[in-house]
Amino acid sequence: MRIAGQVSLDDIPNICPLLSRAANPQYGEEGTRVVDVAGVRFGGERAVVIGGPCAVESHAQTVGLAQAVKRAGADMLRGGAYKPRTSPHDFQGSGLEGLCILSIAREETGLPIVTEVMDPRMVPEVARVADMLQVGSRNMHNYSLLAEVGRTGKPILLKRGMSASLCEWLGAAEYIAKQGNLNIVLCERGIRGFPSGEYSRYVLDLNVIPAAKMLTFLPIVVDPSHATGVSAMVEPASRAALEMGSHGLLIEVADLSCGEPKCDGLQAIDAATLARIVEFAGARRRESEVRSQKPVAVAASWPAN
Ligand code: PEP
Ligand code: MN
Repeated sequence: MRIAGQVSLDDIPNICPLLSRAANPQYGEEGTRVVDVAGVRFGGERAVVIGGPCAVESHAQTVGLAQAVKRAGADMLRGGAYKPRTSPHDFQGSGLEGLCILSIAREETGLPIVTEVMDPRMVPEVARVADMLQVGSRNMHNYSLLAEVGRTGKPILLKRGMSASLCEWLGAAEYIAKQGNLNIVLCERGIRGFPSGEYSRYVLDLNVIPAAKMLTFLPIVVDPSHATGVSAMVEPASRAALEMGSHGLLIEVADLSCGEPKCDGLQAIDAATLARIVEFAGARRRESEVRSQKPVAVAASWPAN
């Protein structure tokens, strides 16, 4: 039986002629498109580690954390000036002032910045400051936002919708690519499953890393912070993601001695933990220079959606 709108991974070359591995044989079976963000290379030889606060709250908080993230050895700074919150009455981010603080943090540390843009009308403003634009989980299906960020030509971090299939996620990436922008990094951030919220925030779908790599040449990173929602789980989840072939990590960091963050404090790690994760990522690279990394073999035919 065929059902309207039903797609499977076999349809990916048609859905994604610009991004699928099958439609772009120049990448071969294992090649990755390296996405360069101000000298930080996603999909290069080394896993990229991005650290920083959930939200930009103040100059002191963000610049202090940026310095700690830099000392921990991470490659980039994250931080939302615009925050998608469940309640419209909660802190929505510090907006333009937050963008200004992010650019000061970059000047102070030299770390490139990734920050979220939620509204197509705000894309030019955010793109003026950001080295990389983040499209959040809730906006993965926002096709006009995807086209707008695509038109900037800036590198895009495209988070997976929390209930999105791999087909839908890659289709969303194709909307960006259709604007002539192939500088896209996928970010797995946990999906909804039946235990979500019982002992972790979402279900970290590690299996999607090798699956995505088989279907597209885009780099893929993991956000263990939103995936787990529990600070003690972030370090082991980071290690697991790297073992599964993640090209990098996006991690929330806080300095609790400066007070409770306005959002997501329970999943934030401290700078010392971040430094251990950076060390693990580096050690793993040295090891992989010895044992060459082959993609995991997956069953020849994909289950239908
Ligand atoms: C974030 O990274 O700040 C964020 C809100 O994540 P997500 O879109 O994955 O929920
Ligand atoms: Mn957060």
